[in-house]
Amino acid sequence: MQTHDTPPLSPEARRAAHETNKLSKRLHRLVGQAISDYAMIEDGDRVMVCLSGGKDSYGLLDILLNLQQRAPIQFSVIAVNLDQKQPGFPAHILPEYLTSRGVEFHIENQDTYSIVKRVIPEGDTMCSLCSRLRRGILYRVAEELGATKIALGHHRDDFLGTIFLNMFFGGKLKGMPPKLVSDNGRHTVIRPLAYVPETDLERWAEHRAFPIIPCTLCGSQENLQRVQIKRMLRQWDQQHPGRIDNMHRAFAHVVPSHLMDRALFPFETIRPTGEVNPQGDKAFDEDDDESCATPTAASALPAEASISLAGLRRSTVESSGT
Ligand code: SF4
Repeated sequence: MQTHDTPPLSPEARRAAHETNKLSKRLHRLVGQAISDYAMIEDGDRVMVCLSGGKDSYGLLDILLNLQQRAPIQFSVIAVNLDQKQPGFPAHILPEYLTSRGVEFHIENQDTYSIVKRVIPEGDTMCSLCSRLRRGILYRVAEELGATKIALGHHRDDFLGTIFLNMFFGGKLKGMPPKLVSDNGRHTVIRPLAYVPETDLERWAEHRAFPIIPCTLCGSQENLQRVQIKRMLRQWDQQHPGRIDNMHRAFAHVVPSHLMDRALFPFETIRPTGEVNPQGDKAFDEDDDESCATPTAASALPAEASISLAGLRRSTVESSGT
């Protein structure tokens, strides 16, 4: 008699399935944690996910859709793609994908490509004008669609890359906020992938077989300085596992009194008070962050985020004041 039992998995297939399962859990946990930590999504939100067709925005949409099913709060998701009319842009791919996922979506057709080509001299980088135009259009679309949050697919490595770009070339300690209010004061922009390493998104895109649209259609070269910084960060990550996570964590644990920004700390006016500071002045302590001791393996490990959905619930309750 014929049976319909599935054949047992080979050890390799079992290992691969185990790794994918771990990746999925990690991705959802990190996204849930970022949403919770920065109160990115609240009950009743309509989240507009900006979808470019690259691995990051596909990953963002995918994970948000999954969290939406399991979250204790209600929020809706609408995917928006701006078709900039770049030559060769395969306009059918995103509508087909989004229809197959049953996601509400909107494709905004705006020929920013011709504007940028006309205004920027041949050979100059087009990205600055292009992204300014795109941002303006997306803000308008968000308003028309009644979106309460605009979600972008920037990840942990984008954040770190921006920090280093600004330090190396701009003389500023400035990254990419996980949540911000737009310059016109009317929109909240969120980056739920703020904790997610790019390599995880690469693996997730491969696993989910997203129909990736190449990002070279505009013919613009990726910013060379950004490419170099990305290479530097990847090398560090390979040579010193944990370093990237530690650096990333450091930017959420800033000590203004131990930096040099007079706008952040009143160095000019500090005086001895005669009172004991419970925190103490740890400037010369051996075991704090100014020590030259090699970090222990435990301290180099990335912090394990707690369960994402519990965090999501907590942020919602806190932000709604209930
Ligand atoms: S890479 Fe191309 S599409 Fe992207 S911002 Fe630059 S010019 Fe615009």
